[in-house]
Amino acid sequence: MAASEFELRRKAVASGLAERRLDALLVAFSPNLRYLSGFTGSNGNLLVLPDRAILFTDPRYQIQAAQEVSCPVKIAKGPLVLDLAAVIQKRCLRRIGYEPARMTCDLFESLNARLPMKASLVPVSSWIEQMRTIKSPEELARIRRSVQTNSRAFEETVRHLRPGMMEQELAAELEYRMRRLGAEKPSFETIVAGGARSALPHAQPTKARLEPGGLVVVDMGAFQDGYASDMTRMLFVGSPTTRVKRTYRAVLEAQLAAVDSVRAGASTVHVDRQAREVLKGYGLDQAFVHSTGHGLGLEIHEPPRIGKRDSSHLEAGMTVTIEPGVYLEGFGGIRIEDTVAVTAAGCEILTPTSKELRAVA
Ligand code: ZN
Ligand code: ZN
Repeated sequence: MAASEFELRRKAVASGLAERRLDALLVAFSPNLRYLSGFTGSNGNLLVLPDRAILFTDPRYQIQAAQEVSCPVKIAKGPLVLDLAAVIQKRCLRRIGYEPARMTCDLFESLNARLPMKASLVPVSSWIEQMRTIKSPEELARIRRSVQTNSRAFEETVRHLRPGMMEQELAAELEYRMRRLGAEKPSFETIVAGGARSALPHAQPTKARLEPGGLVVVDMGAFQDGYASDMTRMLFVGSPTTRVKRTYRAVLEAQLAAVDSVRAGASTVHVDRQAREVLKGYGLDQAFVHSTGHGLGLEIHEPPRIGKRDSSHLEAGMTVTIEPGVYLEGFGGIRIEDTVAVTAAGCEILTPTSKELRAVA
């Protein structure tokens, strides 16, 4: 990512300080820190002031910060909070914005205790997260690559899949391949669940073997160049029963209907409703127990959420998942998930993987 992209983002924050009556914004949450500075270390704070930004980190990250970051960097000798407090005092900052959902109580309390008399910490919610919802062309290119790596890892792995493999083995194979293909790591713990366990929407892979006659849910994603992908596909060991085929068709129809409704300006609740209405027609709406999708980027789950109670609107440049699913105890679960990019006219489905129910034999 070009340094100028980070500088533009910091400028946007700097010029938004006045309207929020802030002298500075303190960013401690690492995805937001990375978004504004490019810094990928685990210990850092960014203080954005009207005329500059300063990154605070420790000596372990001295070389890395110099390579990644284009704003001034302060290498702290002790806890970062001491240097932060010193800058706040020196520059006579009064109102310092912080991210309440994203900062530890520990940092809050220790900074608060060191503030000069007239200074105070002011909660600021979702500002950077809102900026992050609209992806730049470079971010979209990264997400696209992450999605492609993820899908290739799936293809290469599933090709060799045989009945009797353990859920854990399949998950390990998927993660190994995604890293071989260029991912840094999975974007969340890979979900592989066979048979009745597929009815657990967030199942963890176990030593259970993939037995004939069972559904297998594979929900996987990669982080590549910092950006997430997310995909769910279904396998069936042996040949699927009529009930499996019918249920699968219902979920696929719901997924396609929701994807069809994605465009700039559409409300998230509207998109969610499209999936729910289709499932209702099959008597399966009660079995759809989560929301239809979520934004993704530097985090695997980020705004907007596409659910029953979400009243935001989609905008061009957002990247979201569309992933309706049904979960039936004793029978199993079926979910189909793509990563899509919102455009003015509709959306582009980034995930290239076929959505047919795959038989494993
Ligand atoms: Zn997923
Ligand atoms: Zn997802």
